Amino acid sequence: MFLPDMRTIYFITMLINLVLATLMLVYWRTQKTYAGFSYMVLSTSLIALTFLLFTIRGWIPDYISILGANLLVGLAMLFRLEGFRRFVGVERFQRGNLIPVAVMLLTASYFSFVQNSEMIRAIILSVVVIYFIIKILYTLLTSTNQAEKPLISVIVAIHTIYVLVMSGRALAWLFIGPEMHLFAPTASNVGFFIYSLMNNVAMTIVYIMMNGQRLTNHLTVAQQALELLATKDSLTDLYNHRTLRELGQSELLRSRRMNHELALLMFDIDHFKHVNDTYGHAAGDKVLNLLANQALRTCRAMDVVARMGGDEFVMLLPETSAENAAVVAWRLQRAVAQEACEWEGNQISITLSIGLAALTPDDREFESLLRRADDALYEAKRTGRDRLVAL
Ligand code: GH3
Ligand code: MG
Repeated sequence: MFLPDMRTIYFITMLINLVLATLMLVYWRTQKTYAGFSYMVLSTSLIALTFLLFTIRGWIPDYISILGANLLVGLAMLFRLEGFRRFVGVERFQRGNLIPVAVMLLTASYFSFVQNSEMIRAIILSVVVIYFIIKILYTLLTSTNQAEKPLISVIVAIHTIYVLVMSGRALAWLFIGPEMHLFAPTASNVGFFIYSLMNNVAMTIVYIMMNGQRLTNHLTVAQQALELLATKDSLTDLYNHRTLRELGQSELLRSRRMNHELALLMFDIDHFKHVNDTYGHAAGDKVLNLLANQALRTCRAMDVVARMGGDEFVMLLPETSAENAAVVAWRLQRAVAQEACEWEGNQISITLSIGLAALTPDDREFESLLRRADDALYEAKRTGRDRLVAL
């Protein structure tokens, strides 16, 4: 069978890792990436350099190629581990991981210059790589990040298979085979390095996908937050006036088309400034929140409650006549009277002025209904507050 010589395999591996490292570098500089990506770029670059040293082995002094390659592989794995640790949110650099790299360097020196054994060097290298991969697996498996779980599982699978293959190979060298090493031009070595290369390419692709996935997740969360911000009032979580106008207009059109009733209550706390002045702004906020809850409890699920701003609220009541809307208004006034707001041992009681407007055939725009309710509210304030006025 034709076997390419190992130097060719190493050269190709070096080239492909160089391309991978360059692509990752470009991606890192031009796309949004997350913590750890720079370590991955560094790791892949070091793997490319390692294979450069493998390729030119014999053409440069052994102490450079052997010790250099051992050091680079150790650091590449260390950086890959750090990259994953940062990606899952661990900030602290584990200096203890430099120990296996140092031990590998020392033993590689011993088994090169005191007692030469390529096989023992290769086994030590495998053990160190396996050590780092097991730490990577531990990091990924203990990650609590749910959104990226599927892709993390793929990375876990890729690394697990790699550890199994690599351990099997090291054990076979130790117990079965003849004296073997990384440079023996055997089918198993050629197969292993081609497999390693594909493994590395797959890992890099999935890793970049993980970055993209995280970006997508973050964008989705940000978009939801923006939508919430645009539709809801942040203090009470009621709809804001913008949403009320949108919902109100479509509700008005629907009611007109179906010839159904539609009523609107606009209410405002009486002398709310006094609450803020006496108990403070935080107490005022609590009163507003309690009122929002009372309003929601007073009406049906199909009704819309919105905060127009300040201490002014609106309740949009589909399928409701003016008479029934007045009942809702009284219910609300009673709820407010019965449940005062507790604040630092004090009971803050409030009253409401309420304006009521019901749909007439002249109302073509929601604004006109809103304006009438506003006028009614003004009238309630003008005539003494704590009352309901219908227009
Ligand atoms: P009136 O009976 O005429 O309604 O008197 P009022 O004191 O309630 O006066 P008005 O409705 O004009 O004032 C509303 C006050 O509500 C003014 C402002 O200090 C207060 N306010 C507005 N927004 C907030 C808020 O988000 N939190 C708190 N605590 N107070 C607010
Ligand atoms: Mg007020």
